[in-house]
Amino acid sequence: MLDWDDLEEAEAAATDKHERHGSAFPGADCNDVTDVKIPDGHRLRIFLMSDLHIDHRKNKEWMLSCLASLRHHDPVNPKSCYFDCLLLPGDLCTADEQFEDSLKMLTESFHLICFCFGNHEAWAHGERKGCTPAKDSFEKLARIHDICQALQVFTSPVRILGGAKPLLLLPLWSWYHSSWDHEPDLPQQLQPPVDPEKRVSDFRLCKWGSLAEAPQFVFGPGGETSDHLAKHFAERNEAWISAVLDLQKREGGEILSYSHFCPRQELILEKRFSYDQHVPKISGSSYLEQQIRRVSPRVHAFGHTHVAWDTVLEGVRYVHWPLGNPKEQNGQTRMQNLSGFLLLFDSLWSPVQFTHWAYFYDYMEPRQPGSAELAPWVSTGYAQVYPEMKAELDRRGLLPHLEVRPDMFSAYFPGGLLNNNGEFWKRHASANLRWRLPPQTLSPQPFPCENPTCILCGFTRKQEEGASR
Ligand SMILES: [Zn+2]
Ligand SMILES: [Zn+2]
Repeated sequence: MLDWDDLEEAEAAATDKHERHGSAFPGADCNDVTDVKIPDGHRLRIFLMSDLHIDHRKNKEWMLSCLASLRHHDPVNPKSCYFDCLLLPGDLCTADEQFEDSLKMLTESFHLICFCFGNHEAWAHGERKGCTPAKDSFEKLARIHDICQALQVFTSPVRILGGAKPLLLLPLWSWYHSSWDHEPDLPQQLQPPVDPEKRVSDFRLCKWGSLAEAPQFVFGPGGETSDHLAKHFAERNEAWISAVLDLQKREGGEILSYSHFCPRQELILEKRFSYDQHVPKISGSSYLEQQIRRVSPRVHAFGHTHVAWDTVLEGVRYVHWPLGNPKEQNGQTRMQNLSGFLLLFDSLWSPVQFTHWAYFYDYMEPRQPGSAELAPWVSTGYAQVYPEMKAELDRRGLLPHLEVRPDMFSAYFPGGLLNNNGEFWKRHASANLRWRLPPQTLSPQPFPCENPTCILCGFTRKQEEGASR
């Protein structure tokens, strides 16, 4: 529990609106935009963190370590009082009790939390001791939303007033459908012999009640997902979108939208770089993309893919800032693990943050859909796990002769060895500390570094030049 004097005052301000209207705290069934006023003399900050997956003990400790540094965190002005908001775009955790406990810890540190469910919250198990299991994922999500409402965590749109201009926070519910993936699959001989229906936990753990009885509904068989779920959740967003756009038209303001799933295929890895060839079939929704195009937010935050991303596409900034599972924290989510929650807004929007893969596509190579030039970490992994693929991989010259060393694939990641090795991470984890809520273990380093080919320092320079123009 934080011992800020102003915490109670700020909390009272956040709930004032509901008391005035004499209604309960708005839940997921609320179609309106709820106004929240930043208390006088306070400064708004918005933090972003997705895919906390608190079911992993290590992740919970990590989260607590970040929260502990919150009370000391003031890079600019130690005297200012903050109104701290957290954006949580899903996959906090599955089990009801643990979900409630971790959300409660977060509500003790943030004045306002906005949450949008992920697939892990939709798994129809993890009920409390003595409770009957949820009969399907809709009932499970209703339980999750009840917990949010009881803890005064917003699951419907919010307008934050009291800053330079109103800020409208818009949740966009979503689900993936296989047809979102419009890039060609790898040739059959380069696809590992796995049955996606058995490998994707959602197919076992999510149940869709009467929606599953709709004609042509598919969820699992052949690894396919029809677009029924994507459409169903997108329909729920319509009332919210109208309310938010109406309000923006009448009274102005910027929109920050957020979803768990991915809106655009440009925001995930190509198949040649992905070990799991099924990922693009269980990642995104084109209904979500269309809704974002209509809403035209300043920023859209998303979750789910566990490959961090920050880039601008057609005028909209897309940010994915995940923690992911403990294994991923030494790989694809290493930056997040080392450097903490993203401070997305603090009087102004944070600059676009460096992420290896957004950098790769923005500055190094365009996408090559259909390319069968598997990355070495993919081809080597396939050869090890599926010996029957080895001859074909060899024939295509896709098995590099790697020296055995701990960072053996680093040389192949964006920027090469010097931008991915242990030294790089030691030095660069704190590169944008001003825009982080770091775990307490992080120690700041001086910047820029002395490596003339450093892609992170180069990226930061580009951003600063762009901002000063
Ligand atoms: Zn996740
Ligand atoms: Zn997810």
